[in-house]
Amino acid sequence: MRATVMYGAGDVRIEDVPDPKIIEPTDALIRVTRACVCGSDLWPYQKMERTDTGRVMGHEAIGVVEDVGADVRMIKRGDFVIMPFAFSDGTCAFCHDGLQTSCIHGGFFGTTEVAGAQAEAVRIPLADGTLFPLHAQADDALMASLLTLSDVMGTGHHAAIIAQVTPGKSVAVVGDGAVGLCGVVAAKRLGAEQIIILGRHAERIALARDFGATDIVSERGDAAVERVRELTGGYGVHSVLECVGLEQAIHTAISIARPGGAVGRVGVPQEQTIPGSEPAFYNNVTVGGGPAPVRAYIEDLLPDVLEGNIEPGRVFDRTVDLGGVPDGYRAMNNREAIKVMVTP
Ligand SMILES: [Zn+2]
Repeated sequence: MRATVMYGAGDVRIEDVPDPKIIEPTDALIRVTRACVCGSDLWPYQKMERTDTGRVMGHEAIGVVEDVGADVRMIKRGDFVIMPFAFSDGTCAFCHDGLQTSCIHGGFFGTTEVAGAQAEAVRIPLADGTLFPLHAQADDALMASLLTLSDVMGTGHHAAIIAQVTPGKSVAVVGDGAVGLCGVVAAKRLGAEQIIILGRHAERIALARDFGATDIVSERGDAAVERVRELTGGYGVHSVLECVGLEQAIHTAISIARPGGAVGRVGVPQEQTIPGSEPAFYNNVTVGGGPAPVRAYIEDLLPDVLEGNIEPGRVFDRTVDLGGVPDGYRAMNNREAIKVMVTP
């Protein structure tokens, strides 16, 4: 089959690789109907050290089950499924707590250990715990939004949950990428009254407004902090969704939280330490977050997607076939595209 293989920074190729097979009796195979390129794929795209073996990329997909191992009980051939970016057994202590990204038998797709989904097909470990089967027939127009439940929408929602967004609160979203935009959707859905997005790209800001953002802050650094304070009576916001992961973004996120507020971090951190220790301490700001347990959130978010109450699929502004994936990486890396959908 054809798959997306990354060999090093800037080096993404489409190659013929061996077809995935059932290895463990708990595996399933899915034929990928839609996958996408993630903002977090851009970190290796910018920094990955060259390897000879390469890495099959992609951790977001929806598809149809082609085959299941002998011990798979819940997932059947022909099921239409959402593949969360992490696989999980669904039975351990952390899965029971709804934190499938910490599953003791789990792991992540698109790593050197487990091949990714920017491909014609993908092997799913622990299929019963991992895959979310959709029993209703879903309309084609919903596919983009269903695809976001494999990562970005669940991740934006996680940021909002960790940031303690509840009805009536003021919220700031740091980052106008697909996750930040989904964070706006999530904050609005959870009843936030004021939603400030920190970003500067015109078409992203326009989408953020459509999604429910009430205020735009295009400044950066201290000027951004100043502007958010102005917009919030001098206090800062109750809830901050940090959707970037760079040092300055995290520092800004902590600095714009009001005393007693909370920051939900979902941007993959690019530094070993968290900045903003002093403002976080003196303002009693709760700082939390991590990889979103999107498997747990599908159940909450799916009805709103199916009913059209939220349309996170609008973050996709470009669609490519597998051959177009290298160009898709380039476009996202150059900020020419918000998020690229792949139809293998
Ligand atoms: Zn588990």
